[in-house]
Amino acid sequence: DKLKEGLTKTRNNITEKVEQLLSLTKTIDDELYEELEEILIMADVGVNTTNKIIDLLRKRIKEKKVSDAGQVKEHLKDILSEIMGGNAQNVLPESTPAVYMIVGVNGVGKTTSIGKMANYLKGKGYRIMLAAGDTFRAAAIDQLEVWGNRAGVDVIKHKEGADPAAVIYDAIQSAKARHVDVLICDTAGRLHNKKNLMEELRKINRVVEREYPEAYKQTFLVLDATTGQNALIQAKQFIGVASVNGIILTKLDGTAKGGVVVAINDELSIPVKMIGVGEGMEDLQEFDPKAFVDALF
Ligand code: GDP
Repeated sequence: DKLKEGLTKTRNNITEKVEQLLSLTKTIDDELYEELEEILIMADVGVNTTNKIIDLLRKRIKEKKVSDAGQVKEHLKDILSEIMGGNAQNVLPESTPAVYMIVGVNGVGKTTSIGKMANYLKGKGYRIMLAAGDTFRAAAIDQLEVWGNRAGVDVIKHKEGADPAAVIYDAIQSAKARHVDVLICDTAGRLHNKKNLMEELRKINRVVEREYPEAYKQTFLVLDATTGQNALIQAKQFIGVASVNGIILTKLDGTAKGGVVVAINDELSIPVKMIGVGEGMEDLQEFDPKAFVDALF
């Protein structure tokens, strides 16, 4: 399936190495744990999260009195899944109408993910509308329109340079008039100017609070998995300026360092809600730790 296919590079990096290591292991000893640790760190699981995983694994192997190295993999899989929260995530609104704010720096796959998410939610029976709140670049507005057309949903836009809060205001009025269930708002992601970004997001949020108090509100941060541990640093910067409810992690198909999913789930107290595994419309999936680990091993 698509998830398995999308994780090929990471599987070749982590899983093949783990399996090879275990097949050569006669006794479960410190050396084995050290080598497992190295494999996880090389796959961008991160030092903190890797240490945690190895500690849990040691404990469990001891508890369960495992002596056959062949059984270590199953325990490692369980621990990875547990560290990632265990439960499958979903992005369906708890109530409607809903407003989803999408934040993230340029190039991470924000526009593409909005289009894919619109398509996904539409497929679940929701009426969707997009708002082109990233007015900083004309290309961002055009791109959003292309994806809106592809997904068959309306896009509310102003000209380049317009006030993002004004776009969101208009979009809310249209969403109300057209009985939209989920209004998905693109926003500018200029992290190099934190103060402006914070002010822009605050202004947008004020408009949403005032014009749409009844709406269920979520903010999703889009991160690029191919940037590995840098994605984690970026996430921490964003969480400092916006109250983020969930992560959308893109381009997992383009990296062997998919271990960053584990690190993000562990180090941020925010769940990975969706993962991107390709460029097509269907290639954004709700994140399920168990399915993820099963596809990996
Ligand atoms: P934005 O600047 O953040 O809005 O980024 P875009 O949505 O324009 O995406 C930037 C590039 O990343 C485009 O070429 C997308 O096709 C690509 N992209 C986005 N998500 C994925 C993904 O999950 N997998 C792959 N392989 N490419 C992706």
